[in-house]
Amino acid sequence: MPTAVNVDGTILPPSEAKVSVFDRGFLYGDSVYEVVRTYGRRPFELATHLRRLAHSAERIGLVPRWDEARIEAELLRTLAASRGDDPPDPGGAPWNAGERYARVVMTRGAGEIGLDPALAVDPTAIVIVQPLHGPPARAYAEGVKACVVGVQRVSPRVVDPSAKTGAHLNHVLAVREARAAGAHEALLTDERGFVTEGSSSNVFCVRGGRLATPPLAAGILAGVTRGSVLRIARDLAVAAEEVALAPGDLAGADEVFITSTLREIVPVTRLGEREVGDGRPGPVTRRLHAEFRRRASSS
Ligand code: PMP
Repeated sequence: MPTAVNVDGTILPPSEAKVSVFDRGFLYGDSVYEVVRTYGRRPFELATHLRRLAHSAERIGLVPRWDEARIEAELLRTLAASRGDDPPDPGGAPWNAGERYARVVMTRGAGEIGLDPALAVDPTAIVIVQPLHGPPARAYAEGVKACVVGVQRVSPRVVDPSAKTGAHLNHVLAVREARAAGAHEALLTDERGFVTEGSSSNVFCVRGGRLATPPLAAGILAGVTRGSVLRIARDLAVAAEEVALAPGDLAGADEVFITSTLREIVPVTRLGEREVGDGRPGPVTRRLHAEFRRRASSS
């Protein structure tokens, strides 16, 4: 079975993997999670993801069912249980063939219905492992369309954006808006109109050879891939700044790209109805991605 689900330590086929309807993850999005991917069937940047998961849990006062060592052990066990034929993905990027997607979800658990977190009695731990479906090879060769949507990023004054929680309705609605505009990714602004991040990615632009991305203080997730890109830029001596960006800054940039664990670095060649730069993936984006690929494949 290529898809394997671990529920509280029991590995099950997807059709048998169930949680209670009273689980607060289901009722309120009262959960934290991570998405990890493999290269060569080994989890990539696992320690960084586990650290962020612990940070997310701490930020919302959730005590996960498992400690970090147990999460790692259960993730590896679930990965090992995910065997068998992957469905063919003819348009897929070659480096994703045979690789795995792993989603680790820790909810506050089930309990009597009510918002009070003290009603949760038994936290739930889930690991879902399935074949990885990354963006098609075309997305890297030609770039994708993104658009700035009307749905805003939840303000840091409402929920700490550095906590990766299961409460995603604004991102669901942002993607709905982007899809209606034929876009691959939705870019969300804050209440002052500055760009924050994508619905499930961080965003960068290149202006006159300099890389720019919104700072963590803009109210964004500290993306693992964002961190890798900033490190690569430093190593390649590409100037980089973490600075507030308005939608107009992106529209006027030479290059724009998004980053995430599943997508790595994807060029954005259309922003709304306009082309970015000359409408093709730019040289800085390609250089950073080539170096990212080199590091990931030798990890
Ligand atoms: N921002 C948000 C809101 C996300 O959900 C994600 C995906 N985890 C990212 C950014 C990218 O983070 P990472 O590089 O760690 O996958």
